[in-house]
Amino acid sequence: MVSVLEATSIIFSNLFKPKTTNVNLSECLGKILAEPILADRDFPPFDRATMDGIALAFDSYQEGQTNFRIESIQAAGELQKKLNSNSGCIEIMTGAMLPEGTDTIVPYEQLEIVNGKAKIIAPKLDKGQNTHQRGIDAKHGQTLLESGISISPAEVALLASVGKSQVSVYELPKAAIVSTGNELVDVDQIPLPHQIRKSNSYALQAALLEMNCTSTLFHLADNEEELKRVLTKIISEFDLIILSGGVSKGKFDFVPKVLESIGVQKKIHQISQKPGKPMWFGRSESKFVFALPGNPVSTFMCFHRYVKPWLLKSLGTEVPIQKAILSKDFSFKAPLTYFLQVKLANEEGKWMAHPIVGGGSGDFVNLKDVDGFLELPLGGNEFKAGEAFDYISFR
Ligand code: AMP
Ligand code: MG
Repeated sequence: MVSVLEATSIIFSNLFKPKTTNVNLSECLGKILAEPILADRDFPPFDRATMDGIALAFDSYQEGQTNFRIESIQAAGELQKKLNSNSGCIEIMTGAMLPEGTDTIVPYEQLEIVNGKAKIIAPKLDKGQNTHQRGIDAKHGQTLLESGISISPAEVALLASVGKSQVSVYELPKAAIVSTGNELVDVDQIPLPHQIRKSNSYALQAALLEMNCTSTLFHLADNEEELKRVLTKIISEFDLIILSGGVSKGKFDFVPKVLESIGVQKKIHQISQKPGKPMWFGRSESKFVFALPGNPVSTFMCFHRYVKPWLLKSLGTEVPIQKAILSKDFSFKAPLTYFLQVKLANEEGKWMAHPIVGGGSGDFVNLKDVDGFLELPLGGNEFKAGEAFDYISFR
């Protein structure tokens, strides 16, 4: 048995090495970037007008001039023009290059234009106003995006602006979800009195899909020979195998024994935690197996506390540590890390975690009222209201 912290460090030192693939820019949303993105030119690439109006030389204004003869118009998408006389100005449109010899823009709202002359009616001008200076946002060659970030619409804009019509992203592992248990029937079946529908498989599949990872479902009976035969095949075909059920001390819990017998090297069996104590983790070269306890809350918690961070870290993404404040005193006796089901509420800017006590690790009806788990660490038995703890969100 290992502690939660030991288990985390073992899992993080057994990461999957993802392959990379190129996808079209229009298909990269939600994927993990596998290359750093550099600015291919300055941002913005030229001194840019941010308002419609006139461009002038600030020095002339400072010397007292308020009437400027309009020499020409500088539109967006035109080559840079030049101011011929310091006492003149050039009409300019948003997005245009600032003409040579000008440095300041006065918007139409602060002008009166009569007979080809622009009169400034603003009480005061500032040098450089309404211009967006070349390179002020980013310099040519600067890193705009690091490898390992998740691509959201904001990143898509940056990728487009540096000309990435093809983007290198990480390929997710080929994943299999395997439920075990003779009592389980599929969702479209009517269970007999001694049977239940298998919910874990679908919860795990959905949780993986939230990370853009598709998976194939399998179901195996509590039968040693069948487990050996089918798991051998599944492990040869998939990179990530998530099992649920059959890992504790029951007479028909064959999973750990079978996994070792077919060459999956055990890295963890049992973690001092509640729920999810019997969890098993191992690998066979580049194949990774998480065998989670079958109780639905345990399966769910173990996925979010171990499998998801493992996958994120394998893809080069830092796993964010979030904290929330316990809203009322909580105590438990066993020397374990306790994952408390909580509902989160923002109260005056603080994230408060309200315990939602359900019927134990089998009560997954309760999960609909819960937002995540508060990780109450090993060593303490009395946890006081007002203390902050790590929070694992599943919403
Ligand atoms: P086990 O870990 O196999 O001892 O299972 C613990 C409890 O979880 C038992 O009550 C099982 O019926 C239940 N269970 C196991 N697998 C699933 C599943 N895929 N969906 C729902 N419940 C499950
Ligand atoms: Mg079972």
